Amino acid sequence: MQACFRCKNTAGFWVMAKDAHVVRRPWCLSCIAEVLDKDETAMTRIEAVPRLKRAFAGGERPVSPGS
Ligand SMILES: [Zn+2]
Repeated sequence: MQACFRCKNTAGFWVMAKDAHVVRRPWCLSCIAEVLDKDETAMTRIEAVPRLKRAFAGGERPVSPGS
């Protein structure tokens, strides 16, 4: 379990600034809604990370809708 960077509740998302890809912190949804500007941050669901890893290992490309 990841604790929210701001309020220490259970975090559901990794959040990083779009111009600083190395910095990634766990946030809960209520803090995201309250504080963050969604136009300047990139969010990844914490539970989605293992699925992405598997996609890379298998050589499959993730399909993004609208492309
Ligand atoms: Zn929080």
